[in-house]
Amino acid sequence: MPDDVAIPEALFIETVRATGREMKCLHCQGELRQSKVPYAVNRHGYHLIIDDVPAWVCSQCGEPLFDEKQVDAIQQIIRKIDTDVPLVLQVA
Ligand SMILES: [Zn+2]
Repeated sequence: MPDDVAIPEALFIETVRATGREMKCLHCQGELRQSKVPYAVNRHGYHLIIDDVPAWVCSQCGEPLFDEKQVDAIQQIIRKIDTDVPLVLQVA
């Protein structure tokens, strides 16, 4: 059971704020716009897609940046499913 529930694709918007600059994309310096995007999580044994997660999306490269609040909530969901999925997969 992997203990690490890090979300590799998630870049915390806090990182952008911490730089003290304008809200620019970390990859291409494009302008970020508030939007909603589906969040896909691929884990061992299951795949989870959450629709319409609030995010800042780069107007140039389309890379989404998620707020720490959203990332924390998603990590809680992943921890719970990681615990429950093995129960489903058990052979009686
Ligand atoms: Zn970009």
